Amino acid sequence: MEIYCYGCFDRVQQDIMIIVKQVEDLHRLLQQQPAKGAEIGFVPTMGALHKGHISLIKASKSKTGCTVCSIFVNPTQFNDPKDFERYPSAIENDILMLEKNGTDILFLPSVESIYPGGRNNLEHYDIGYLENILEGKYRPGHFQGVCQVMSRLLKAVNPGHLFMGQKDYQQCMVVKKLIELLGMTTCFHSCPTEREADGLAMSSRNLRLNEAERKNAVAIFQALAYLKKNIRENDFNALKARASHILMENHFRIEYVEIADADNLEIKQSFISSCKFIGLIAAYQNETRLIDNMRLTVEQN
Ligand code: AMP
Repeated sequence: MEIYCYGCFDRVQQDIMIIVKQVEDLHRLLQQQPAKGAEIGFVPTMGALHKGHISLIKASKSKTGCTVCSIFVNPTQFNDPKDFERYPSAIENDILMLEKNGTDILFLPSVESIYPGGRNNLEHYDIGYLENILEGKYRPGHFQGVCQVMSRLLKAVNPGHLFMGQKDYQQCMVVKKLIELLGMTTCFHSCPTEREADGLAMSSRNLRLNEAERKNAVAIFQALAYLKKNIRENDFNALKARASHILMENHFRIEYVEIADADNLEIKQSFISSCKFIGLIAAYQNETRLIDNMRLTVEQN
């Protein structure tokens, strides 16, 4: 494949990846699509791409005729400005990875292009209880930021199919709700978590870990595996305490270790055979915040 900027090519073509920076240009390009019938698949990302992101591109390519990937580090979803400033960036490598894996369009907008009216007084989305539990509790405003950027990206791309990772389980639920609120017909696909050989979930933030932190980081996967192995125990508090111990032994500062109903993320206290459980963890390895989750009673991910 080859890479061109919008303007050199303003039609999607086989074996060419077109990079677009303006929302209006993206609109025009997608309307120009020769294969009008070919559905658009969309993979939104914040860059510093890894195999987890690429698995979403592959899922989109297998289901749709035109795959659009966006790279945009959205300032409105970072509750901690330091986290935003330190967010890893690797744009040249990202472009090569996307091209190599057959992405048709890379949408690379500026902050001004996404928020032309500035970032004050942005709209509020009623996502209900999802806003204030788990990630929402520890990252106030985070999911409003996710909705603000996703609503703009979804309107810009208008995809038939949207591909996101189960790695961000609560985010998947929020975005499904957002699609409903926007009245869009986009089909949502949540894709399995890609892991390193030792089990650590792939994440752009792993790039920030030094050697010792990287070794410790696998304890998140081990703690989730421990929850899964022992999920039939009745006292979830005792079980979570032992999983937390695995994290603390590996120098994690824990935000939460929870067991919830996978359908609605309601926190559960004891085992019920009819419930599909999910374990969710957020914890810091020094300055780096990592999250992961695992289905505890159904298929492994
Ligand atoms: P991010 O760039 O971190 O915003 O992630 C962009 C998309 O990739 C989101 O839908 C994530 O859930 C997904 N993703 C991140 N890590 C993984 C992974 N290890 N496996 C599969 N999908 C992932």
